[in-house]
Amino acid sequence: MQILGTVAELRRWSRKQRNAGHTVGLVPTMGALHAGHASLVRAARATCGKVAVSIFVNPTQFGPNEDYAKYPRTFAADCALAEAEGAHVIFAPSVEELYPAGAATFVDVEGLSGSLDGRSRPGHFRGVATVVAKLLIAAEPDRAFFGQKDAAQVAVLRRMVADLRLGTEIVVCPIVREGDGLALSSRNLYLSAAERTQALALSRTIRQVEALAADGERRAAVLLDAARQIFAAEPEIRVDYIELVDWATLEPVEAAVPGSLFAVAAWVGATRLIDNTILS
Ligand code: AMP
Repeated sequence: MQILGTVAELRRWSRKQRNAGHTVGLVPTMGALHAGHASLVRAARATCGKVAVSIFVNPTQFGPNEDYAKYPRTFAADCALAEAEGAHVIFAPSVEELYPAGAATFVDVEGLSGSLDGRSRPGHFRGVATVVAKLLIAAEPDRAFFGQKDAAQVAVLRRMVADLRLGTEIVVCPIVREGDGLALSSRNLYLSAAERTQALALSRTIRQVEALAADGERRAAVLLDAARQIFAAEPEIRVDYIELVDWATLEPVEAAVPGSLFAVAAWVGATRLIDNTILS
């Protein structure tokens, strides 16, 4: 497995692979890799001849009071995991490589970027769209792999790839969970033992809403209320949002249809966690 640090090297590698007849898959990450990321690498390996994993803690998607400085950085372990899953390349650029001095170009997906996480994290999706655009332009992958865990991010990136006609297929992979239901997240490392238990309220909410929907309940008001009741029993948790939206537009819907996104975000202590389900 090669480790590349510059856009020019990544572009050269990718073009070489495609000239040799391989399809190229890209798995963008911020590192601190876990089994959720591993599932993306496996999905990429299953459908692409060559796979690059990018590891870059992107400063522009963090707000001024967020955890950029303390975000977990575990590069050696990340390389070992990526290699064990069969990645061919790690792309680990410096901040200066992706944001050259004087960088003034950003990608703003209007409307969508102000919904869900974008509402409580102003500028977050602008940072995400900008860095993913840079990665897709550099790597020119046939497919890029993202987790449903960040479902609003997927909506923003699908819109961006369509609007900019980047030509990369966006592949969305299922949420990987711990045995007790907690969605895997690099930020779970921040949780104390007590907070780890409290955090289960998020996945309980998801299961409850899935069960109601499976029984035929479609009304947003009822589904949202069921979720609110679960959080009401957890006074330690501060809810950021509980929403039922159209997955493409992120606009709230009155009634769930197949493909509607039910999503929650909540603060458990100082840690903000998210979870969601796509209703069937
Ligand atoms: P991150 O490193 O947190 O930016 O995540 C990189 C990619 O991994 C994103 O596409 C995430 O949606 C995905 N991801 C994170 N956690 C999970 C999970 N528990 N299951 C599946 N994919 C995940």
